[in-house]
Amino acid sequence: MVSSMPPLRGLLPEEIGSYIQQWGHKPYRGKQIFTWIQSQAVQRADEMTDLPKGLRQEIEERKLLQPLRRKAKQISRDGTEKYLWELGDGECIETVCMPYERRQSRQRVTLCLSTQVGCPLGCKFCATGQQGFTRNLTAAEILGQVLDITYEKRLEKQDFKVTNIVFMGMGEPMLNYDEVKKAIALLTHPQGQAIGQRRITVSTAGVVPGIERFAEEGWEVNLALSLHTIDPALRSTWMPVNDRYPLKEVLEACKRYWEKTRRRLSVEYALIAGVNDSLEDAQKLAKTFHQWPVHLNIIPVNPVQSSGALRPAKESLQKFTQELQRRGLEAVVREERGTDIDAACGQLRSQKQNKKEG
Ligand code: SF4
Repeated sequence: MVSSMPPLRGLLPEEIGSYIQQWGHKPYRGKQIFTWIQSQAVQRADEMTDLPKGLRQEIEERKLLQPLRRKAKQISRDGTEKYLWELGDGECIETVCMPYERRQSRQRVTLCLSTQVGCPLGCKFCATGQQGFTRNLTAAEILGQVLDITYEKRLEKQDFKVTNIVFMGMGEPMLNYDEVKKAIALLTHPQGQAIGQRRITVSTAGVVPGIERFAEEGWEVNLALSLHTIDPALRSTWMPVNDRYPLKEVLEACKRYWEKTRRRLSVEYALIAGVNDSLEDAQKLAKTFHQWPVHLNIIPVNPVQSSGALRPAKESLQKFTQELQRRGLEAVVREERGTDIDAACGQLRSQKQNKKEG
């Protein structure tokens, strides 16, 4: 019996091979199809020029490629681009593309990918968190964000290549673990985008089972924790996930991750004026991490309507970071990108939704 086939973008070469074998094709074609899709980022079967015509036709007729539909794109003065995509069922997600100029080597391009439509965690400072949760993305939809940007860019400029991936867009990656893991296998495959594991970062708001599973993977993918405050009560106010997975347990899980992997954890700390930006906060933070090494990224919060979160003054941002550095922590102010567009997670999607409803 021929089983129904999921979109090809979410499958490894051997999986494609075993599906097409059921239709009477040679399994080695799976590798060819995989390379066309994942490395060349083609969107149509007729672009796969070394495949037999019949196989190309079958791929088209069965609608196995399913590119995302671009609904909107914003371009910032600093070159950051934000994409709003429509999925097959009409739901929308966002992706941010951040090119960084390099003089010597190839240009670095970081994509910030979404992993869910909306997010169930409801962080107060986040536009996505205010939209609620709809569903998980499939690995094919996660890859689609990389492949369709690559396709579009290569139409404009030949040698475009995504070099870094951060899973920090819409959604909590640890709540869609299997599809994120599959997406990482596809992104790092040598016949595909071949992105190095060390160039991929998965961010979590503190989902302990996910952190524990991540520590057991035996890979070199980076882990980032969205911490934002060291005060448990305050964290529960801004990040309700703290009630389910209390800060103490999250930090213990992160420490076990460090002990097991010896890989330095990235800690994201969004500085909110008058909330978590005092020198005392910096001192408590330094005390928490003085025994195991982390890399602290201090980010001025991107104000979201209705959240009440205000950006700190430049001076308090500097003082906060210097206090951490003075106490021996590796802390940097994260370079801000796309401040003149709706670059914060979920802003473009909610803006479009508001327009639809208004
Ligand atoms: S910050 Fe991340 S985890 Fe929190 S609501 Fe937004 S998308 Fe979800």
